[in-house]
Amino acid sequence: MRYISTRHGSQGSPAPLNFEEVMLAGLARDGGLYLPESWPHFSKAEIAALQGKPYVEVAFQVMRPFVGTAFDEPTFRRLIAEAYASFETPDVAPLKALGDSGLHLLELFHGPTLAFKDVALQLLGRMLDHTLVQRGQHATIVGATSGDTGSAAIEAVRDRKTIDIFMLHPHGRVSEVQRRQMTTVLAPNVHNIAVQGTFDDCQDLAKACFNDLAFRDRHALTAVNSINFARVMAQIVYYFWAALKLGAPDRPVAFTVPTGNFGNVYAGYAARQMGLPISHFVVAANANDILPRFFERGAMTMTGVTPTLSPSMDIQISSNFERLLFDLYSRDGKALAEAMTVFRATGTLKVGANALGGVRALFDSGRLDDEGTLVAIADCRKRFGEIIDPHTAIGYAIAQQHRRDAAVPMIVLATAHPAKFPDAVEKAIGLRPVLPPRLADLYERTERVEGLPNDIAALESLIDDRMAAHDGSRVAGRPQVKVST
Ligand SMILES: *Cc1c(COP(=O)(O)O)cnc(C)c1O
Repeated sequence: MRYISTRHGSQGSPAPLNFEEVMLAGLARDGGLYLPESWPHFSKAEIAALQGKPYVEVAFQVMRPFVGTAFDEPTFRRLIAEAYASFETPDVAPLKALGDSGLHLLELFHGPTLAFKDVALQLLGRMLDHTLVQRGQHATIVGATSGDTGSAAIEAVRDRKTIDIFMLHPHGRVSEVQRRQMTTVLAPNVHNIAVQGTFDDCQDLAKACFNDLAFRDRHALTAVNSINFARVMAQIVYYFWAALKLGAPDRPVAFTVPTGNFGNVYAGYAARQMGLPISHFVVAANANDILPRFFERGAMTMTGVTPTLSPSMDIQISSNFERLLFDLYSRDGKALAEAMTVFRATGTLKVGANALGGVRALFDSGRLDDEGTLVAIADCRKRFGEIIDPHTAIGYAIAQQHRRDAAVPMIVLATAHPAKFPDAVEKAIGLRPVLPPRLADLYERTERVEGLPNDIAALESLIDDRMAAHDGSRVAGRPQVKVST
């Protein structure tokens, strides 16, 4: 399997890469996102053969074509088994029917940090570590977080000798659960940094590190944000898993996805490209509705970010949407690169009527404000006895407006555990959801975090210092295996 950039053919485009290179690179050098040159296809018989198989087996079969020769079979099976052993249930992603409504919840929050990002990051952390050990290399992850991504990434790479992670969050602007999930990880390779500034400031600082090429090379910077194709790959699995539970390949299903950066729902689109019978997708947004506006009008227009009760969907632009746009531009990377340049300059990107008709056949969309979100949490509890988090609630409400066919089951992706957003849930139903037992002492654990002014020079010297101190203290622990290729 070879991978190309969504902007291939434009200036600075890399030659096609293999899986390992794509995983280590994250973003392509031409500014585009990697995707496979063509999708692997699963016949009806091949999908039927996955029925009744455990999650880890479905995962192995679905992902195997993507990784190519990056891992041999026993290694890849072991990495998958270890990643999903960190989940609370061997089912990894349990599917729950909501009465006989035809609605189902796919619970993706049973991993270590209680949000769906664990599903991909637990595997990515292990794949990265394995590859770095093989190559005798060390990598440094620098990232910015407004909440869920930071804790999932930290949990995925903690205690790895091959990786150091520097995670920036805006001081005083993440919830207490989210902060503690990051700062109570005391592993020596984890560096939490509270920046005097906003989330955007954090993101700008992280970007500035990547744009300083000498710095980037000195520390082998890498990114694990949702544009990394390895994350998309790991998310494709649970679309197969859920559809199989409801009768695939003989019976189609529909999915509703609480959406921010479009990474999760794009994985569903990929599953459909691979042959999984999916009738349609519903893209569910909060007040930050750039995607519903696009699906309604055929124009993507940037606006400011509005803070909501579903902070992980508070986005200005959905970065992964470029992967769908690539198909809308008939896989013409050069034309897409030009359109993205115009978008950055003017804040607007338009697609033609034909392309819009095509996506509308496959994607419905809707938005829900905070008031509606609280009503939806209460409604789900009253009708079905289930307590859902504010992100899931948006999916739950919008799904019901877009059942195209009552005979087709509608699967709502439950993206976070309600205890991760206790204030919103309490406001809706008057009950405070409790953390699962393994996180029950989160509020008593010791925290470690460093403060930093919003200043790139200060950040770079902090990283230089930490890495220098670190190298000295564990020379003997550095991987010695040499690259074989
Ligand atoms: C990250 C996140 C989302 C948005 O997912 P995308 O892949 O960015 O669309 C939705 N809900 C929760 C709880 C999240 O953490």
